[in-house]
Amino acid sequence: MCGRHKSKVKNDRSADADLIIEIMKYVDIDNLDKLPGTRLENNDTFSFHCHPELSCFNKCCRNINLFLYPYDVIRLKKHLGITSDEFIDKYVDIVLRDSNFFPEALLRMSDNTDMTCPFLIQSGCLVYPDRPDACRTFPVEQGLIFDSMNKKIKPVYFFRPPDFCMGQHESKEWTTASWSVDQDAVEYNKMTSMWAELKSMFQADPWQGEGPDSPRRKMAFMATYNIDRFRDFVFNSSFLKRYKVKSGILKKIKKDDLELMKMGFSWVKLYIWGIKTKYITQR
Ligand code: SF4
Ligand code: SF4
Repeated sequence: MCGRHKSKVKNDRSADADLIIEIMKYVDIDNLDKLPGTRLENNDTFSFHCHPELSCFNKCCRNINLFLYPYDVIRLKKHLGITSDEFIDKYVDIVLRDSNFFPEALLRMSDNTDMTCPFLIQSGCLVYPDRPDACRTFPVEQGLIFDSMNKKIKPVYFFRPPDFCMGQHESKEWTTASWSVDQDAVEYNKMTSMWAELKSMFQADPWQGEGPDSPRRKMAFMATYNIDRFRDFVFNSSFLKRYKVKSGILKKIKKDDLELMKMGFSWVKLYIWGIKTKYITQR
């Protein structure tokens, strides 16, 4: 999707109906060779350059399944000057996939003929400095392998531009690392990996028969995606009587969304599975 060019971005489902902008896909280690796209390892390079002179310019960024991650929401709502509640209400579709017991947040496309991204404007991307991780990483897709020995998530990368994307025929060369730096995606990739580690725990049903309307699931979604509402919950409910948050952290989360997001991830681990972390303990 985008990222290469300040004013451009992503894919056109009318041209490639399977195009999904997601970088947090869990992949089967035994079937890596069968996945679409070219796998990029270590210093493997790929050619790509997106610019307004290309015939495909401005044809992506429409009719796409663009997955948003918690850090994306923080950056976007801040850019737009609205609360996370308002952002989710106005721009997000929450969907549940068969493969996971935690809902996905998809950016809601505009209700027009082309189903354009709500942030696509004539000159490109309205939220360019704070565009989602998937837009930055495109046309590279990141898959995740769970290393059961070390209990760690390991990334794998694939170069996978849609056929209509002319940027792949340009000569500029990148590695996944240099591309990430060029797209200012390093911090995003880090935050997405942190989220992926937690999200992977939802591949088994933690709701024990409570079903899709589980109140615990709603609380976990709020703590990870709806940061302003979570802050209100932390400071204006009995939360701090029930949980002890490390003092240095408590001070930071009053204002710092990123710290609150990390604390929220820790709280979900404690709340759902009883896992203790350095951030928070039960009183
Ligand atoms: S957020 Fe920006 S880069 Fe991403 S799809 Fe929308 S317009 Fe394109
Ligand atoms: S080169 Fe690819 S990313 Fe750039 S505008 Fe064309 S289709 Fe979109």
